[in-house]
Amino acid sequence: MQNKITRRAIVKSGLIAGALVPAFGMLGNTAGAAALPPLDPADPTAKALGFVTDASTVSASANPTYKPNQKCSTCAQYQGKAGDATAACNIFAGHSVPAGGWCKVWAQKPGA
Ligand code: SF4
Repeated sequence: MQNKITRRAIVKSGLIAGALVPAFGMLGNTAGAAALPPLDPADPTAKALGFVTDASTVSASANPTYKPNQKCSTCAQYQGKAGDATAACNIFAGHSVPAGGWCKVWAQKPGA
């Protein structure tokens, strides 16, 4: 009897923990992205990839692949959701980039 109760308690606590882990994980990701320092355009990697905080300032002659509708929020590397002002970028780990930014690695986000 004692074993059944213990087993049941373990199963119950496991189910509760299983349900809470994803919820806390999501909270953690949101807080982590918000805490990321903004990417400095003067950062050597950012410079090499032509990163700018405002895509409207991209020189089309210097960046022939650039099109006016390209910006971080429509890039496959952007980790933010619609309406986010800034978000993490897979290319510049540990930094946030603005939704309106751009760099030479831009690639169309599926569905954007
Ligand atoms: S890879 Fe995409 S999201 Fe990241 S900085 Fe370049 S354009 Fe923006």
